[in-house]
Amino acid sequence: MNKFWQTCARCARTVRFSLSGRCGCGGTLLVEYDMERIRSTVHKSALKERPATMWRYKELLPLAREQSIVTLGEGWTPLLSMKPLERKLNVRQVWVKREEQNPTGSFKSRGFSSTISLLKEHGIDYVAVPSNGNAASAMAAYAARAEMRSAVIVPKDCPGIIIEECLRYGASTYVVDGMIHDASRIIEEGAQEQGWFHAGTLKEPGRVEGKKTMGLELAEQLGWMLPDVIIYPTGGGSGIVGMWKAFQELLQLKWIGGKLPRFVSVQEAGCQPLVDALRTGAFVPPSTETVTSKPTGLRVPNPPDGELVVQIVKQSQGTALGVTAEQIREAQMQMGRLGISSSPEGAATLAGLIQLREGGWITRGESVVLFNTSHADKYLPWTPPAAVPVIRSYEDLREHQRKAGRG
Ligand SMILES: *Cc1c(COP(=O)(O)O)cnc(C)c1O
Repeated sequence: MNKFWQTCARCARTVRFSLSGRCGCGGTLLVEYDMERIRSTVHKSALKERPATMWRYKELLPLAREQSIVTLGEGWTPLLSMKPLERKLNVRQVWVKREEQNPTGSFKSRGFSSTISLLKEHGIDYVAVPSNGNAASAMAAYAARAEMRSAVIVPKDCPGIIIEECLRYGASTYVVDGMIHDASRIIEEGAQEQGWFHAGTLKEPGRVEGKKTMGLELAEQLGWMLPDVIIYPTGGGSGIVGMWKAFQELLQLKWIGGKLPRFVSVQEAGCQPLVDALRTGAFVPPSTETVTSKPTGLRVPNPPDGELVVQIVKQSQGTALGVTAEQIREAQMQMGRLGISSSPEGAATLAGLIQLREGGWITRGESVVLFNTSHADKYLPWTPPAAVPVIRSYEDLREHQRKAGRG
């Protein structure tokens, strides 16, 4: 479809496009496109005629061939104006981006539609991901759609409904007695022997590109304007990296002009490394023992490139804040009374808005977009099926496979 390559966000080195998301210097490799060529061949008004999925931005996604696209109809989610919140909080405009309406019930659909398409194009047939839940079920769904094998490892306190989703999509499903980084270590350790591709956050270039479409869409839906503030529930942070990248690309294409939004990263107070890093200037992942929050998309003690996320938030003149479980619950009820089913992460953005409006960081004349990244139903109490093995190490996983007669 078009030419693209990668540049390191840390050392600025440019390399040929590959499936690696990491530079030798430890930085994140971001995809770059031939913007001149796109600018001269695509006019933004032509997008109107395109399918109502994120693939309407295909020139800005890193596939060589259109036939590689693996889609379940993700993206082009509604952007709802929230009049009652505008009145109540005395702020000019509030919108909610309804990401829970994606095919797998969270915006993780976007990341995995592009990642699985990309991996398929490059001949990968077995994928694995460490996740707090939504990335696992999204990957499992897209792998199933692409007729690829998949394995997922989630924490043992992951919402049972999400575990059930993974099983129904046919993924080899494990729960780890630990956190998302423990799951990641197990996948890393098993990569050679199992032959799976580690599709964790920022391990490969596809996920940021898919998440980027949230930013592209926001601009298009607002008539090529952007809000003053974007409030985003942040865990690993690839959504922030993606949207920031989207806005840079839109500027290069001259499809937008002027001021970019301030990013607000909201985290839950029981695990808020980005909030702390922004305040102290140093990134210190909290030790597992001190983490007290539930395993939502916000509980990522050790994000793969937290420095980049913090740098983007700062550069946008944004901020980061922690909200309590209690504030999240209240915001969830408030969203519900406005007709919107929100996950704890999605509701956290409203809790953040309330705090920032009260404190005056967001002023009366401003416009704000909240990202409702998933819906409430996934988090209902549910006992996971007993058949899912609990592991602590890669050796446990092998042991389970041997018992199951596979290896
Ligand atoms: C993954 C996830 C997040 C965090 O997103 P990042 O882009 O990884 O920071 C927020 N909300 C939900 C529902 C998620 O699944």
